Amino acid sequence: MKYFGAHVSASGGLENAPANAHAIGATAFALFTKNQRQWSAPPLTDTQAGRFRDACAQYGYTPEQILPHDSYLINLGHPEREGLEKSRAAFIEEMSRCEALGLDRLNFHPGSHLNKITALQSLDRIAESINIALDRTHGVTAVIENTAGQGSNLGFAFEHLAYIIERIEDKSRAGVCIDTCHAFAAGYDMSTREAFEHTFAEFDRIVGFGRLRGMHLNDAMKPLGSHIDRHSPLGEGMLGIDAFRFIASDPRFDGIPLILETPDESRWGEEIAMLESFAQ
Ligand SMILES: [Zn+2]
Ligand SMILES: [Zn+2]
Repeated sequence: MKYFGAHVSASGGLENAPANAHAIGATAFALFTKNQRQWSAPPLTDTQAGRFRDACAQYGYTPEQILPHDSYLINLGHPEREGLEKSRAAFIEEMSRCEALGLDRLNFHPGSHLNKITALQSLDRIAESINIALDRTHGVTAVIENTAGQGSNLGFAFEHLAYIIERIEDKSRAGVCIDTCHAFAAGYDMSTREAFEHTFAEFDRIVGFGRLRGMHLNDAMKPLGSHIDRHSPLGEGMLGIDAFRFIASDPRFDGIPLILETPDESRWGEEIAMLESFAQ
């Protein structure tokens, strides 16, 4: 079973996210559980959490179909003490919100060294940040996303993801999300059957399909290896439509949220219908 969806708006109340996903024919969705441009948010009330859970039940979304994303302000590998502590506190808050909402995973970008410490030092901090958060929360898996490797962002190599997971104490709550645009921008081709099989054999060898808790399905505006994170509608970028056919018809991607973060949200319904047709 494939779960296709998009990163939908939760404005006006978290319970609007499942309704917005249902309206575009999605069987999965992603959301921010708080304003992603702010560090902090008022704590969730039981009423708010209850409304969200009720809406998920009403529209038939279970936790394995939902991929919450944390705030872009958070840098778990921050080189400076103040930024690191602020990030860690905010990340624990995000994990706790997921727990309160009955969600079982939280998707995030690993972090950036900002050219002030080495990549390995920053990766060690990321792993420590995740350990601290897992220690303080229950039942929520940390889902590390691969990146395009723009600027000093880490996580562009599958080895970075493996390095972090290796250092996570509770590996039962260590997962990954692969973004197709980011992977392509980082130099992992999947535009042909041969390239796709090679890239995912590498992924399986280095990280393992057993860790995959979600995917972001985005075409790439820039060429292979550009390290530039710019998403395109499916089939309109340099990655091309075949990669999405391969994913939709491959059982290794069953049972996890497959989420569009493509730029034109008015086309999400159409893109989901196309993916469903590829899955037949
Ligand atoms: Zn993404
Ligand atoms: Zn991106």
